[in-house]
Amino acid sequence: MTLIQSINLNFLGASNLNQSYQLDLYRGDLEHAKAPGNKWHKLRHHLKAAEQQNAKYIGSLGGPYSNHLHALAASLEDRDEQAVLLVRGELQAGLTPTLQDAVAHGAELWPSQRADFRLGLEANAVSRITQYYSNIYWVPEGGGGKLGAQGCADWANAIGAISGEYSAWAIAAGTGTTAAGFLSSEACPKLEVFSALKGMAQQQVEVVALAADLVEHQDNLTYFSDRLNFHDDAHLGGYAKLPIELITFLQAFADANPDVELDPVYTSKVLFSIWHKMKAGSWPHTKTLMIHTGGMQGWRGYASHQTPF
Ligand SMILES: *Cc1c(COP(=O)(O)O)cnc(C)c1O
Repeated sequence: MTLIQSINLNFLGASNLNQSYQLDLYRGDLEHAKAPGNKWHKLRHHLKAAEQQNAKYIGSLGGPYSNHLHALAASLEDRDEQAVLLVRGELQAGLTPTLQDAVAHGAELWPSQRADFRLGLEANAVSRITQYYSNIYWVPEGGGGKLGAQGCADWANAIGAISGEYSAWAIAAGTGTTAAGFLSSEACPKLEVFSALKGMAQQQVEVVALAADLVEHQDNLTYFSDRLNFHDDAHLGGYAKLPIELITFLQAFADANPDVELDPVYTSKVLFSIWHKMKAGSWPHTKTLMIHTGGMQGWRGYASHQTPF
């Protein structure tokens, strides 16, 4: 099966969008059975670094529905290291399905208080855990940093090797690590990036800086910023918010594209934004490749009546 497929854009009253625009989807969600999407790519160089340090444990942190924690626990199931996960403090009657999977994959969980969790790798809980587990390698939240971005640059190169010519690629951003890795790759044409969070306009600068850092082009920031188009207005109310117009859109999308599922937090908002720009005639590319970064397990954080897939 090919990992690149065309999207049927003709739904919700649009009958001729496919005549003006071609939108293809790179199915990163189908790449890896246990850890689909971008998180496994972000982890690859971190896992190598952990191995070089002979780490016995790999620690990281995230929320109770985190795609990152889910992918980390799944990736370690067949390896020697054990996952130690610091979970953002939230009142939950029990473990979320995400954390249940992590435990089933052999991870140990630690709770945290929100205020402490916010400090990331500087959190008190992180130093306490480091005392309990000798030889622990810490991955920053979301699998970020330069090593995370490097794995995404490798991924972009691999996608470029099998995809044809596109005028742009499109991808979602949380931390912006994945976008930076893609931007640094020569395989990537113009990159349209859609932030899943509110108030992230300044992230554009960080993505450019990290991309330049990866290829030691610090002196050539304009080369990267010229290739990047950053959208800070595609979050539909904020991170993980699922307004009714998005649910309606996803139901129509699913009817027109029965073999594709999008995730609620990232990829659905990229597609929502691109489609509306195409409908308004303001999308600047006739041939676009959207990268599916996975995240389907995130639907388990929503009620079934909100779930179109
Ligand atoms: C984490 C995630 C992203 C964002 O990746 P960043 O590197 O943090 O920008 C995009 N899509 C999905 C499905 C994710 O889980």
